Parts: sequence; C-alpha cells; structure tokens
Amino acid sequence: MPTSKKKVVVIGSGFGGISAAIRLQAAGLQVQILEKRDQPGGRAYVYRDNGFTFDAGPTVITAPECLEELFQLSGRKMSDYVEMIPVTPFYRLLWHDGYKFDYSNDTDSLYSQIAKKNAGDVEGYKRFLQYSEEVFNEGYTKLAATPFLHLWSMVKVSPQLMRLGAYRSVYSMVSKFVKDEHLRQAFSFHSLLVGGNPFSTSAIYTLIHYLERNWGVFFPKGGTGALVHGLLRYFQELGGDITCNQEVRRILTTEAGQVHGVETKTGQIIDCTAVVANSDVLHTYKDLLSHEKRAQAQTQKLKSMDYSMSLFLIYFGTSKKFPHLAHHNVIFGPRYKGLLTDIFKKGILPDDFSLYLHVPTLTDPDLAPPGHEGFYVLSPVSHLGKMPIDWKKQGPIYAKQILDYLEQKYMPGLSASLVTQRIFTPEDFQTELNAYHGAAFSLEPTLTQSAYFRLHNRDSKISGLYFTGAGTHPGAGVPGVVNSGKATAGLVLEDLL
Ligand SMILES: Cc1cc2nc3c(=O)[nH]c(=O)nc-3n(C[C@H](O)[C@H](O)[C@H](O)COP(=O)(O)OP(=O)(O)OC[C@H]3O[C@@H](n4cnc5c(N)ncnc54)[C@H](O)[C@@H]3O)c2cc1C
Repeated sequence: MPTSKKKVVVIGSGFGGISAAIRLQAAGLQVQILEKRDQPGGRAYVYRDNGFTFDAGPTVITAPECLEELFQLSGRKMSDYVEMIPVTPFYRLLWHDGYKFDYSNDTDSLYSQIAKKNAGDVEGYKRFLQYSEEVFNEGYTKLAATPFLHLWSMVKVSPQLMRLGAYRSVYSMVSKFVKDEHLRQAFSFHSLLVGGNPFSTSAIYTLIHYLERNWGVFFPKGGTGALVHGLLRYFQELGGDITCNQEVRRILTTEAGQVHGVETKTGQIIDCTAVVANSDVLHTYKDLLSHEKRAQAQTQKLKSMDYSMSLFLIYFGTSKKFPHLAHHNVIFGPRYKGLLTDIFKKGILPDDFSLYLHVPTLTDPDLAPPGHEGFYVLSPVSHLGKMPIDWKKQGPIYAKQILDYLEQKYMPGLSASLVTQRIFTPEDFQTELNAYHGAAFSLEPTLTQSAYFRLHNRDSKISGLYFTGAGTHPGAGVPGVVNSGKATAGLVLEDLL
C-alpha cells in the first residue's frame, strides 16, 4: 500500500511501463497506469478469435530473472502468478535449401549439428560462446539497468566496449568465429529480435546468444498475455491502479518546466508529481508536449534518428497440425544480407521472405480449440518513413504471398485448413501504438543510438519527466524494457523519496 502521497502517472502499459510501475508502487509511491488501448500489454496485446488465443507480440521470453526480481521486491514468487514453461528447442531454423538446425541449450546436440555442417566450426562456436559470455557480463549484468545520463558514464565504459569489438557488427563478429554461412546466419539473426540489422547492429548484441544459453527460453502457460496479467494482478495487489481506454493527450507542465499532471483525451485532468512515459518516445515529445518549448530540441533530435524496421504479421488458426514445426521457427529465405538491405536501407518490399513462425499450441494446446493449431507469422518490413506504401491495399496481397509461400515450402494443405486469420501492418503500429514510422522496436539499436546516445531515462530540462521502454536505454525486447523500468524507477525514487 502507498506510504507516500506523491503520485506517479505511467503512460502506457508495455512491459517497460509495468516494470517501472511495480517498482515505484512497491517503494511506496502511488502509481496509476493510463493505457490507450482496451487491454494492457502494449506490443504484448492479445487477440481472441474463434476459440484461438493469439499473443500479438513477444513470444520468446528470456532472462526470467529480471521478471522474478519484480516479485521479490515484496517477497513474492512469480510462480504464484504465472507458470513459465521451458521451450526446447529454443528455435528451429529452416532454410530455403532444406537445411535445418535445432538451436537449444543441449550442448551435445549443438556440437554434433555444427560438426555435421562444418567440423571446423565447433571450436569456433565454443570461442564465440565464450566471447558472448564476456559481452553479457559487461553489457548486460553491469549495464542493462544502469541509466546513462552523462557523457562521462559512456566514456567510463568505452574501453571495455571497444575491447569487445562493439564497433563491429553482429554478423562480422560471428563470422570471425564461424565460417559456414548457414551457421553464421544461425548465430547472428538474434539482433533482429530487438529491431537491429545484424549487418549494422553493434556486436554487443551477441550477448543475446549467451543470455538464452544461460537462462533458457520460456513461454508462459496461457501465453504472454498471462504474464502481463500476472504482473498486473501483482501491481494491483500492491495498491497500484491501471485504467485502459484512457489515452493521454498532454503532459501538463508549469511555467518553470515542472510536470504537474496529464490530460486525457476525454478531457480528464490527473494531477501527479511525476510522469513515466512508456509511450513512443517521439510521440511523447512531439504530441504530448507540443505546448512545451523545452521539448522542441528533443523532438527535432528524435526525428533525425534512425528507427527500427517494422513488421507485417498474420495471426492464423488451422484445423490441421504440421508436426515437423517447432514452437519457434525461423525461416530463412534465399537471401540474407540482400533481403536485410532491402528492408533496412532501400525501403522496398521484396518478393522473397525471411519469416518467424510461432506455433504456441505446441507448448500450450489450450490456446486453440481441440485438434486445432494456432500460429502467427511475422515478416520484417521497412518502416513507413522508408517505405510509405498503402498497407490497407497491400496488406491482404502480401498476406496471401506469405501464406502461399508457407504452404508451398513448409505447410502443405495450409489454405484448406485455415479457420481464422487477421493481419497487423506497419500502419497499425502507427495508429494503434502511436509508433513513429510504425517502427516495431522504436529507435534502431546501433552503437551511435545506444546507452548515452539513446533517449535518457530522465529528461534534463523538464523536471518530473522520465522514460521507460524500447526507445530508452538499454532498448527493445522484454528483458531490455524490464531493465529500463528498473533504471528509470531508480531515478524517480532518487528524486522523489
Ligand atoms: C511482433 C513482435 C514480436 C516480438 N517478439 C519478441 C520476443 O519474442 N521476445 C522479446 O523479448 N521481445 C519481442 N519483441 C519486442 C518487445 O515486445 C518490445 O520491445 C517490448 O514489449 C516493448 O515494450 P515497451 O515497454 O517499450 O512498451 P510497448 O509494448 O511499446 O507499449 C507502449 C504502450 O503505450 C501505449 N500508449 C502509447 N501512447 C499512449 C498515450 N498517448 N496514452 C496512453 N497510452 C499510450 C500503447 O498503447 C502501448 O500499450 C517483439 C515485438 C513485436 C512487435
């Protein structure tokens, strides 16, 4: 229960917002989350169609310790709120030419698959894993929840980052250790999970490899939505409040530049001492602070930065099972670098695909009616700033191309067994989530947009304004934003208590 009269409004209920809200509420502040949509979770929204439950966004849940830590704040256990099921293999990787690789924590199976593909790469992979562990220790353990507010904080860690080759790309670093092209792809695609092109994202992001090997990959019983609900049930038990269908229109500031409340779209004024914005970073400065001259420089700066790719998604259910698929499948098309260049640089919609195919019902059959299978397939596409196409027209055409490709190569009989289908396009990221350019992961995670160079967790000109979520340090992905919530809550508590 709150022990302070000071109130904090959190704008948005993504994992970053929820993480910060729990920490602040647990510390005795009075916290209210205001969410624009009709359900909480942000990108982790849930669709329920014809008896199927579709998680809209995150499905590969890693680093469960950062979630467990939230429950430990008040001596509770995550397992009392949600069951986390280990998933194996972590991913099934499938290539256009028929090659298949099951990536998991099973060392024997990993080594034997690598040896079969290219014997010389076993030693290289072992050295890569060691490297990835070192990057994890420096980049995740020490820095993920540390706010970078001053240039000095960046200067201090720069020698370690340079020693670890942070200036190289993920793909280039993996290639130093592993020579086979399929295996290079297998160990470099991870930066795509946080919106980064493996050919331009800093090698620091290879830490994801060790992070997965260290803790494993999990899926919550009932889907990612059940994890969101578990966290929110806990938040409410602590005395926190969440209101959905409540879009914030303005963050209110005094003449001296101190936050004193928010105004919602319905005209309601909610007074508070501080605001933690989990909303899109540019939307927050450009729209919610359009009246505040102290926000103008940040608006311009954020407009000039690079944004991650967007995604095109199809959530679909079938009356048929496809037994050779795993829970998480990554389907590599005939091109890797060329396709990523089309998406990240050229802004064209290619005819070939690299896809992520999610089959949650393999872990939790209750997410579909008996005998049915639930899926989502995701295709990375350029954001709207690079490729301003009309997705209302293009969406259904592109969906058919993807489903035809899946049917031809991996899911024979798919079209005849489809019982439900819906799509989500870059335009939906823009309109539903207020995401600038419809970017799926906010700012692109390049070295020059990371740590000190990313949006700071506390504004330096407007007092009482804080940020959490994918656009802030350390960046996108569930562990990233949950850690950003920790970094931000630390600053709020430092200032308010
Ligand atoms: C399809 C997809 C798959 C992904 N898969 C994975 C995965 O498997 N594993 C993983 O770790 N990560 C994954 N990610 C990344 C991860 O989901 C995100 O980085 C993370 O969930 C973003 O959280 P966030 O805290 O930034 O908030 P968001 O989820 O972006 O939520 C922000 C919230 O703010 C609300 N909002 C915006 N403006 C306002 C306003 N004015 N007033 C009130 N509310 C507002 C929005 O409605 C939204 O609910 C995936 C992302 C996507 C899109």
